[in-house]
Amino acid sequence: MYNPKSLKAEEFICHEEVEASLKYADEHKNDLAEINRVLEKAKQRKGLSHREALLLLDCDIPEKNAEIFALAEQIKKDFYGNRIVLFAPLYLSNYCVNGCVYCPYHAKNKHIPRKKLTQEEVAAEVIALQDMGHKRLAIESGEDPVNNPIEYILDCIKTIYSIKHKNGAIRRVNVNIAATTVENYRKLKEAGIGTYILFQETYHKESYEKLHPTGPKHDYAYHTEAMDRAMQGGIDDVGCGVLFGLEMYRYEFAALLMHAEHLEAVHGVGPHTISVPRIKHADDIDPSAFDNSIDDDIFAKIIACIRIAVPYTGMIISTRESKATRERVIHYGISQISGASRTSVGGYTEPERKDETAQFDVSDQRTLDEVVRWLMEIGYLPSFCTACYREGRTGDRFMSLCKNMQILNCCHPNAIMTLTEFLVDYASPKTKQIGFELIERELAKIPKDKVREIAAKHVEEIKNGTGNDFRF
Ligand code: SAM
Repeated sequence: MYNPKSLKAEEFICHEEVEASLKYADEHKNDLAEINRVLEKAKQRKGLSHREALLLLDCDIPEKNAEIFALAEQIKKDFYGNRIVLFAPLYLSNYCVNGCVYCPYHAKNKHIPRKKLTQEEVAAEVIALQDMGHKRLAIESGEDPVNNPIEYILDCIKTIYSIKHKNGAIRRVNVNIAATTVENYRKLKEAGIGTYILFQETYHKESYEKLHPTGPKHDYAYHTEAMDRAMQGGIDDVGCGVLFGLEMYRYEFAALLMHAEHLEAVHGVGPHTISVPRIKHADDIDPSAFDNSIDDDIFAKIIACIRIAVPYTGMIISTRESKATRERVIHYGISQISGASRTSVGGYTEPERKDETAQFDVSDQRTLDEVVRWLMEIGYLPSFCTACYREGRTGDRFMSLCKNMQILNCCHPNAIMTLTEFLVDYASPKTKQIGFELIERELAKIPKDKVREIAAKHVEEIKNGTGNDFRF
């Protein structure tokens, strides 16, 4: 039976409830009165239930669809302004004991070279990332208790935070590793991680078990209940996601939002981020073998409807998507993107390795400088800020900042100052020129006089080399 407060996977992601929601949305997708009711509720910017959001996703009335996209864009502007936070993935190890059929790291793949970074190699990768201008990483690893135990992950985190090359520093390490125990989550929290990210892959239990035929990841309940254990271990920023293409997107969409409702009901805080990866070609993986792939139109609608359903949750899009796709969907609610990513182990220092051990093909191959310039050219303010996490504004404290629409007085000036650091230390002359002009315009947008003055003073100090890393 459906119970968002239950700690049992099959009760908070209840198959019958998903099926009933699919039926309701299908029956009402042309029902103007019902769609208008849900849209009116959405305009209050307090979110929607999974069932209501699914109705908007399914909505078949063209003028209402235009309204849905416009509302998503407006909600994004209201809560996040024009900031886009940048990060890069860092692959630590591709040793893996699981059998995920969509991932080239699956244990039966005998021809992919296996590689695990030593601490010296982690340091070299971090220096390469710092030299591009990155301040925020998401570490990635296969699941292998012998080769990649939690102690190895903790050592890597320590190494990453310890490297200070030139003006560089990694100030936030997010972690995307397999579901683990409360005790291990506590250790990750103590190591100072930002968000714990775990993609559900699919919420459909039967499909999940088929797609994960062997290894510890086969256990649907253990995987689905991981975010509860992470929160029990003290991690209050968790990042959810599904791998679109594995199952029917409508099912995944409803269940993903049910997961968000569950976290809110039990822990008082929903997911910090939601990611929207789609299956990509990789070593022995052919995406066309999965028959639930979604086209760009559906992809854009999913992003818009997630934005409307959970206005306070950040949304991430990776370099799995091309520049053109990212440019199309970013307006509908994306708040974080990766840039200049390598999905191979050691790929930042040994580019020749990059294809050999890659987890998936990267569609957006631009440098970080190019991505930053592009964001500014299409009206965004690239941000390298990590202040919330460092100031202890995680979980519900971050959410209240977002809910009170204080982002323009806090995150916005922080974005301006961190972009200034990037421009001074790492940008090409062309990016610098566009960037410094943008900084002036963005400073003028800060509503509170005092905040604007302080931010402007720090921008000047960063430019003349006397700045510290002051943040609001
Ligand atoms: N091994 C960990 C786990 O099981 O959660 C870490 C995750 S893995 C390094 C990162 C994510 O990449 C996976 O959760 C999966 O969704 C995604 N992924 C795997 N194969 C992929 C493919 N062929 N195309 C796109 N994304 C893929």
